[in-house]
Parts: sequence; C-alpha cells; structure tokens
Amino acid sequence: MKAYIVRGQGSELELSEVERPRPGPGKALVRVKAAGICYRDYLAWTGWQRVKFPTVPGHEFAGIVEEVGEGASVSPGDRVAGMMYEYCGECEYCKSGRENLCRNKKVFGEDVWGAFAEYVVADSKSLVKIPDNVDFASASFAACVLSTLVRAAKRTGIGPGQLVVVTGASGGVGIHALQVAKAYGAKAVGITRPEKAEHVAKYADYVITRQDFAEEVKRLGYADVVIEAVGGPTIGQSARALKPGGKIALIGNVDPNPQPLQLGLYILKEIDVLPVLQGTRSDLVEALRLISEGKIRPVYSLHKFSDLPRLLADMPKARHIGRQVVEI
Ligand SMILES: [Zn+2]
Ligand SMILES: [Zn+2]
Repeated sequence: MKAYIVRGQGSELELSEVERPRPGPGKALVRVKAAGICYRDYLAWTGWQRVKFPTVPGHEFAGIVEEVGEGASVSPGDRVAGMMYEYCGECEYCKSGRENLCRNKKVFGEDVWGAFAEYVVADSKSLVKIPDNVDFASASFAACVLSTLVRAAKRTGIGPGQLVVVTGASGGVGIHALQVAKAYGAKAVGITRPEKAEHVAKYADYVITRQDFAEEVKRLGYADVVIEAVGGPTIGQSARALKPGGKIALIGNVDPNPQPLQLGLYILKEIDVLPVLQGTRSDLVEALRLISEGKIRPVYSLHKFSDLPRLLADMPKARHIGRQVVEI
C-alpha cells in the first residue's frame, strides 16, 4: 500500500510503498477514503516528543472496512469513521465512559500508524458506522472536531434558550462550535476579527468583532456558556461576559505557557471552568447523527492525496476556512 511515512521529527513526508498490514484480533483494516489535516498533525510532525517514529501521521479518517480480525465488532463493507485514538475498554476511565482519558490510549499517527495511507488498522471499538447520507469527507474529521464539541456541549449543559459565546469563531473549531451550540437549541454569538465577520455570520445568530466583547455580550443578556477556543488572549473577556453560575469550556488550545486568570472574577460569579480533551465513542455517534440530521454542516475543502506534504508544511500560515481534507 502507499503511505506517507515520517522517519523522525520534522523529517520529510515520504510517499512509500509498504506492506499492507493485517488486522489482529478485535482489529479491522480500513480502506481510507478521506483524511482530515489537523494542526495536531503539524505539532506531532515538528516536535511533539512522544511520537513513536517512524510513523504514518493522520488521526482523522473515514473509509470502508476491508478485512477484520477475530472478534471484531465491524464487518467488511461497513462505512466507518475513526475515533482519533484506540482505548483499552478495561481501565477505570474506560469503564466509567471516559475513554478519552484511557490509561492505555493510543493516538493514531503518534502511538500507532495513522491514516495518511491507503489503509489503516484500527481497533474495532474505535470505529463508528457512518449514516448512509453522510459522506466520507464530512465523517473524516467528526471525531477530532465535532465529537469534542459535543462533549463540550454536554459538559456545559448547553440547551434551549441559552446564549452561547464562541471565541475564535472563524477557526476550524469555532465555526463548528457555533453550529453545535445551535443544534442544542441555544443562540450562538461568534467572536471574530472584522475581516471574518461575514463568513462567521452564516453560522452565528450574532457576530461581535470588538476585542473587548464582554460589554456587547452583556447587552444581549449575558452568556450562559462560553466555548473558549482561543485561550489566554480572550478568557478574561469570556469570564466578564458570563452570567453568575456560567460555564467556560476550554477547548482546542494546549499552549503550554501559563495563562493569567483573575480568580476573583471566577469566585464571585462561581464560574465553572470545564476543560475538554477529546470526544468519547458515544460523542462521535452523536456528532455523526447531528450531521446526518442536517443540524451540522461540516465546513471543509477537498484536496488530492499528493498535496498532503505541502498542506501540512503550510499549516502555520494557512488561511483556509474549515478543515482541509484529502481524498485517498
Ligand atoms: Zn485533529
Ligand atoms: Zn482504558
């Protein structure tokens, strides 16, 4: 099979011919049809220390099951979306429905070979069937982006009648966060730069382009929830925009630098700060259902498999809207 191999940190993506892997017990061989390119791929490629090289990068994928090992929970011919990791199903976290914290978690492209290849082997627990009316490209990044947002919505209890603020609203996380908030019945406020306002307005009920956005949110009636997709630069305004008892979901930013928090503000308003790591299997099932029902329209652009090295290298300066997906 053809696969992009990375032999070491920052080394070139080599399109190589490697032996097609066989699925062991409980595993499935998936013919990859579409794979999303994520900033995490860029970080893993350029310096994430814990990547096991050589590797095939890519943790966002959808395809067709080609072959299964003994006891697998999927069948050849199934259209499936992958979670971004494999989990053991036996540790305390897996048993309590928090497999995103699994003690034995293996992330595709980092701990095990990923999806920038014609085939990927995955534990069948990490594969979810795709509804008939959902295409492979839309399903490919459902795990990394949408299931994580579904988890954010559940953790913060987003529901009808609420006002939800999304920072970084034009980004890959933000543009889908607006849609998830609305899918759960809330009104969505997008915080973005003036030049992105028109695009964000297609998905939000309100758009605010001021850096000190809290005052304008208050005029709309205070926020019940903030989906904080930026981090340090916006979180102070996010806390001010919240009503007492409000909740902030921290998502999509793993900047290792310390971030200032005005603790008094959090205490006086009893703000709940809820970090969200990744979606669980049930969150992915829910995300695919929301796409199938038309409540979320995944935003992406399609590219050729051969464009992958260029797209990955250009990640830091990318000005694209939504996800970049390669067809394989
Ligand atoms: Zn990702
Ligand atoms: Zn586990």
